[in-house]
Amino acid sequence: MTDIVKCTRCGRRYRGHGEWNVVVSAGRPTGYLCPGCQTTEENVEAVINEAGLHYMGADNQGRLIARQKR
Ligand SMILES: [Zn+2]
Repeated sequence: MTDIVKCTRCGRRYRGHGEWNVVVSAGRPTGYLCPGCQTTEENVEAVINEAGLHYMGADNQGRLIARQKR
């Protein structure tokens, strides 16, 4: 199976470089975002991923939720 990574928002194709984000939902990747489509919150998500945490979303007060990767 060939895994073609495309931006979930604009459909641009990932060519192996750039600050792309994986969209994670309930611990599973559900989509991808190119640098042009990322929001501030999504950039935070990328930083959390780099820190070795799973980004879980935000609670109803806008706080970011993350849990440790194992
Ligand atoms: Zn895009």
